[in-house]
Amino acid sequence: MNGQTEPVFPGATLEIDLGALARNYQRLRNGLNSALCGATVKADAYGLGLDRVAPILWSEGCRHFFVATPAEGVKLRRILPDAEIHIFNGVPRGYEHVAHEHRLIPVLNTLGAVDGWADFCTARGGGGAPATLHFDSGMNRLGLSPDDVAELVAKPARATFPISCIMSHLACADVPDAAMNREQLDRFNEQAEAYIAARTKTYPALPRPMLSLANSAGVLNGPEYHFDLVRPGIALYGGNPFTDRTNPMQNVIRLRGRILQIRNLIATERVGYGATWQATGPARIATVDVGYADGYLRAFGEDRGHAVINGHKVPVVGRVSMDSHALDITALPLDACAEGADVDLLGGPVALDEAIKATGLSGYELLTLLGRRYNRVYKDSEGQPSGVS
Ligand SMILES: *Cc1c(COP(=O)(O)O)cnc(C)c1O
Repeated sequence: MNGQTEPVFPGATLEIDLGALARNYQRLRNGLNSALCGATVKADAYGLGLDRVAPILWSEGCRHFFVATPAEGVKLRRILPDAEIHIFNGVPRGYEHVAHEHRLIPVLNTLGAVDGWADFCTARGGGGAPATLHFDSGMNRLGLSPDDVAELVAKPARATFPISCIMSHLACADVPDAAMNREQLDRFNEQAEAYIAARTKTYPALPRPMLSLANSAGVLNGPEYHFDLVRPGIALYGGNPFTDRTNPMQNVIRLRGRILQIRNLIATERVGYGATWQATGPARIATVDVGYADGYLRAFGEDRGHAVINGHKVPVVGRVSMDSHALDITALPLDACAEGADVDLLGGPVALDEAIKATGLSGYELLTLLGRRYNRVYKDSEGQPSGVS
């Protein structure tokens, strides 16, 4: 490093509104009675930048964070020295001591992981290190099966280390009326009560673990889903937690591309790879500097996605390339845009929900795919740019 900063060129820009992020957190937290509002910040805070997102959540009072992998946990530990950090995917056997060095709390998803953590705690001595237990209440993705939970209920001595939290995960929270929500809620209540009763009976001195079930949609689905700790992700970042309702959250991202070139075509001329789009008359095509390598996938191409230029909606035509895509701006007044102009691609006037409908991608995919080569502008809570990277 020579101390010089990289030059910033005009180009595609991803604006991230940290004020909107803070307001989304407040909104979720204010809907809770006594439960604590944690945050899920896996996958680089859903693509928005862990190093900028995590401190905002911390300053809003968030103390419990969830990431997917131990490497993400180590990164977060450097940003937030005092946070409680849970690792959804757990920690591989033999690496318990590395995780504990960084004070990470593994989520134990299998009996093998429970035994591994117990062995590690025994070898280490002292009162043991905290872990979180994941009871699978019906999703069949990760977590201790009902038989595994019954095994722990019968033998509480298998986990005498401190348990920070007992969690489960809802499969259908995004559809609030789905019958499965209530089934999972009931099963989680039964499993957690049976386990805590058995544990307290054998080890009355051990503190009671927190219970956690709700992701974003779970938080909005009613107080019976809140328990002691909730762990929203997508709603913080402005994604729609629901698939069948309008988005109650504030938009956080705004992606703008830059027009590299405008071309005038005559009838029958074609555009892009595969020459899949053909002009039916005189046409104007704007080539924009965002492509599938930036997370703007081919799913936006072939008239599915759209951009907004100075209030005009224009379709994405032909195939999306790696570094660019084409917009048909024929219908626009000639002075509506020029080479070098900015166009809105996602967020802002192009609602995430519309992009979801057009592309068939989920809001989770749209956010976590957002590329790494945009100019990133973080706006602070007053709406001022607080740094370009
Ligand atoms: C990703 C994840 C969350 C957060 O889910 P959102 O729908 O983004 O709120 C919560 N819990 C678990 C186990 C997860 O994997």
